[in-house]
Amino acid sequence: MNRNLMKKNLMKKRTASVIWATIRTSKVMTLGLFLTVTGAIVIALLPPLVLEWMIDRLSVGEGLSIVAALVYFGFIALTGLFEAGREILLTIMGQRITREIRHAMNEKITRLAAEDLTRQEPGVMVSRFIGDVDTVEKLFTSGIISMVADLCKILCIFVIVGGKNRGLAVVMLMVLPAVYVFTRYVQKRSLKAQIENRKAVAKVANHVPETIQNIRTIHALEKEEYMEKRYSDYIAENYEAMEKTNFFDSIYSPAILIFNGIITAGIMVLSASGIPMVKTIFGMTVGTSVAMVSYIGQIFGPLESIGMEIQTIQSAIAGVHRIDEFLSREERWDTKETVCFEEMLPCVELKNVSFSYVEEQEILRNLSLQIETGEHVTLVGRTGAGKSTLFKLLLGMYQPKEGTISIYGQDASLLPDTIKRSVFGYVEQSFCAVPGTLADQIRVLDEGITQEMIESAAKVVGIHDTIEALPSGYETPYHANLLSQGQKQLLSIARAIVARPKILLLDEITANLDADTEQTVLLALRRASQNRTVISISHRLYEQTGGRLVQIGD
Ligand code: ATP
Ligand code: MG
Repeated sequence: MNRNLMKKNLMKKRTASVIWATIRTSKVMTLGLFLTVTGAIVIALLPPLVLEWMIDRLSVGEGLSIVAALVYFGFIALTGLFEAGREILLTIMGQRITREIRHAMNEKITRLAAEDLTRQEPGVMVSRFIGDVDTVEKLFTSGIISMVADLCKILCIFVIVGGKNRGLAVVMLMVLPAVYVFTRYVQKRSLKAQIENRKAVAKVANHVPETIQNIRTIHALEKEEYMEKRYSDYIAENYEAMEKTNFFDSIYSPAILIFNGIITAGIMVLSASGIPMVKTIFGMTVGTSVAMVSYIGQIFGPLESIGMEIQTIQSAIAGVHRIDEFLSREERWDTKETVCFEEMLPCVELKNVSFSYVEEQEILRNLSLQIETGEHVTLVGRTGAGKSTLFKLLLGMYQPKEGTISIYGQDASLLPDTIKRSVFGYVEQSFCAVPGTLADQIRVLDEGITQEMIESAAKVVGIHDTIEALPSGYETPYHANLLSQGQKQLLSIARAIVARPKILLLDEITANLDADTEQTVLLALRRASQNRTVISISHRLYEQTGGRLVQIGD
């Protein structure tokens, strides 16, 4: 039977449904967002109209009350307020969505099979969690909503300008597409230069730690000149890319100012023209011409933003695809809720087990093995024979392709995660730290493990006194240089035995240790192994404690 068929796709969640659920649960905020977005567009259109009215009155010699000026400033201030409100709400909404997506992704990661997880590049996974989710956030903060707002603003300006002066609207309609094409050209070039720049900066930044790390090899092989040349090449690349970015950044604003100037001047000349036909098309009052200048000035901003927004939306769509691909990965099989061990049955029993990580390459073939309670068994076999793989199968990280693996009669891969620590104590070749204190290294986020259990485990392996001697004892924050290699291995064993497991799995734990430290660790292991079933991959332990040898592979 192919056990992989048991895998399922529990989580049907997709990025879109996470976003939609967040919007639905934030009704007030969504309404606030709608009001501030539309409010900012509409109110921003009013000041030029007030200005037009004021100037027209002044130009025919009529007076102005202070109220008119206050209304003008009021609209400008209100636009600012609405825009600020919109930005605040967009940011909060974006953050909520980001949080929910990351939450869904984190949930997903815990449901993936180890098999699948180990196949993923950690860097790629990190970029999904950070980069891709950020692009989706930007979709909100500076993508879809801003684009709709900018399009509305451009449209409204056209409608107003068209209503006041058809000729000007036609000129704008002819010129603006050209401005847009120019804007996109500059943006694309600038983005390309920025990407090159980022790559060049990364190369420059990586060079320094790389040099420091390999300084002995560099000196030994007399590669100083080579490293120096590489560094100067990277700096030159960086400089070139930076120059390009600066060039595109610096030409854009003056070019737009020139466009603006040409349109404004052209319209002014035409509206003041003595030719009657031209005047019927372009003629306008002083007030209207001031308002038109203001509108022309306002239209370039949204036009520029739309280009960037299209880019943001494109990268967000790619981000959504990648997140969806991750969220729809096959999940790990379901484990049992509870199990009842049959203590009379063998502690570990493998019947005709075959396993391969990838189809063509069989690692274990037809392996049968029985281990009784309290037995000490050492697995031997050439490197790559599948000894560590067998541990992973016992721990239920993978399912055998054929055959069965039972722990006191229960399928190893179906044991609930909650009881795993009381069944297996697993010591790996090297210590894997978790963030937190020394006590946390032993507890590993397990609330059921008391301080007393932690100390008793530390005493068994003989690291209690070392920890107590530190000023903050068990509460000392852990860092890589706090303990020696051997002490880390003792901590590993304490971690493995703290939940008083039935079976101890030891994977080459004394490799890389010097003779004295090895003796300390072996002594700790002997104490930890008492009254337990022990399966180890360690010749030294076998030499010291005896037991049964089991050959894995040929
Ligand atoms: P060693 O004595 O060197 O530790 P081992 O007997 O413990 O060897 P395993 O680590 O079990 O060997 O590996 C057995 C084979 O499975 C190796 O060929 C290895 O390349 C392969 N392998 C191990 N882990 C994976 C994995 N996650 N995906 C694919 N292949 C794997
Ligand atoms: Mg191994």
